[in-house]
Amino acid sequence: MKKKLVVLTGAGISQESGIPTFRDADGLWEGYDVMDVASPEGWARDPEMVLDFYNQRRKQVLAVNPNPGHDIIAGLEDHFDVTVITQNIDDLHERAGSSNILHLHGSIFESRSHSDPDRIYKVGGEELNWGDNDEFGNQLRPNVVWFGEMVPLMEVATQEVEKAEVFIVVGTSLAVYPAAGLVEYVADAVPKYVVDPNIPGIRKTPNLHLVSKKASIGLKIVKEAILDS
Ligand code: NAD
Repeated sequence: MKKKLVVLTGAGISQESGIPTFRDADGLWEGYDVMDVASPEGWARDPEMVLDFYNQRRKQVLAVNPNPGHDIIAGLEDHFDVTVITQNIDDLHERAGSSNILHLHGSIFESRSHSDPDRIYKVGGEELNWGDNDEFGNQLRPNVVWFGEMVPLMEVATQEVEKAEVFIVVGTSLAVYPAAGLVEYVADAVPKYVVDPNIPGIRKTPNLHLVSKKASIGLKIVKEAILDS
């Protein structure tokens, strides 16, 4: 039976595809204050600007491809029972071939009813615009979890992490909660690898290996280590 590998990813895994991260740019997201484009208050103030921001992000993602970091994670399915828990709203893990992905913070390729978070739809084209409504006449918004909102997949993600026999964290500043708290649920005996050119603050635990590299290089090193163990 294959061992269970859980990989927690953040914006850094997509950096080598050409998608900028967010803390690297002084807490701005593509030049925008995150509270303007990723909070219920920002949406209430200027929904058209928020929709336009995510339309740009969607077009940006559609114009790029998965990078070797995404590919290595997908390829690990040959050896492990892999669950990817990503904070990213892009679809680059899917396009690389990973088959078991939890989008903790949602996806820009989905919309949801403004009034009911459980009514989720695919975004057909590149854009979601003001006046695009669900069948009940409610405005659609991106199905992205904003600051201050509940993370609906947190419980299932926690259960996955508790079952991990190998755990990898890649490309996340571990600054956004509750996602960052997931690392606390990994059992002490489990080998844990952190891949990031700027290793984030993480509590010292047994079996912790820090790989201060970009995802494509760091994941190659980690892959060799876990296949040898
Ligand atoms: P973050 O921007 O806070 O941190 C990014 C981390 O990636 C940093 O620690 C940085 O050192 C590291 N990094 C940069 N280049 C890297 C590389 N080539 N390889 C490996 N690591 C690299 O990102 P976060 O922790 O994911 O939190 C940001 C939030 O913003 C998330 O919730 C996410 O939804 C959103 N976001 C998503 C995307 C995306 O979907 N691609 C992009 C930007 C922001």
